[in-house]
Amino acid sequence: RLAARGLVHRFGDTSALAGVDVDLADGESLAVMGPSGSGKSTLLHVLAGILVPTSGTVALRGLEVQALSEKERSLLRRRRYGFVFQLGQLLSELSALENVALPAMLTGASRADAQASAGQWLAALGLAGAEGRRPGELSGGQAQRVAVARALITRPEVVFADEPTGSLDQATGHDVMQVLRDATRAVGASLVVVTHDADVAAWCDRRIDVRDGRVVAPGSTTGGGAGPRPGERDAGVLPAH
Ligand code: ATP
Ligand code: MG
Repeated sequence: RLAARGLVHRFGDTSALAGVDVDLADGESLAVMGPSGSGKSTLLHVLAGILVPTSGTVALRGLEVQALSEKERSLLRRRRYGFVFQLGQLLSELSALENVALPAMLTGASRADAQASAGQWLAALGLAGAEGRRPGELSGGQAQRVAVARALITRPEVVFADEPTGSLDQATGHDVMQVLRDATRAVGASLVVVTHDADVAAWCDRRIDVRDGRVVAPGSTTGGGAGPRPGERDAGVLPAH
């Protein structure tokens, strides 16, 4: 589904990506690991069409994303991708319910429909009762579950997560990672997760290691576990929307 070839990215004199190929199959989850400054976030931003690479191509089902205009890439991200970042990405003045409903409204749903769907997502991710709370009134783990619901409400094709467990303790982080992977599978989306935590990476089907802007060690993880096979939709678990 997502195929990147020969990705090079420079920030001035800094070579952040020095020739990276990535393939992501339908429904597959991929962990990206590597030391600080190795180019993980740059890779995620290029794959997600946030950054245009200095050279190389990123094709989503044959559509070359790097060749699109900024406006087209922005629409593509809104309609076909979901994003989860480190803690602090939720809008602090909005309730949990409003935060989750927002992407649905931005892609055309009415406020009533978006909020109904948001309520179902929050309940499915264990947050029934927290709908009216603002992000400052949630624990870190709860806030990241809200972020997962917000990323999934539009039923994206690919979810991109940069250190989604980075600000959480280990147990809470693993919990959030499991929710993220299960919810992503439930809508049949693929998942790219940047993480420093090998245990978090183990939740994914496959892992790549990045050093100095290159992939040094592609391989499989012990993860994957039970659940619908890649690309399958598990209609039972989460809201039909
Ligand atoms: P971390 O684990 O610390 O988040 P990372 O692997 O995500 O690191 P990147 O953020 O991709 O690393 O950075 C790769 C290289 O590109 C680094 O040398 C960094 O300093 C540089 N870099 C990243 N963003 C910019 C930017 N906006 N302007 C200039 N240099 C940048
Ligand atoms: Mg980073």
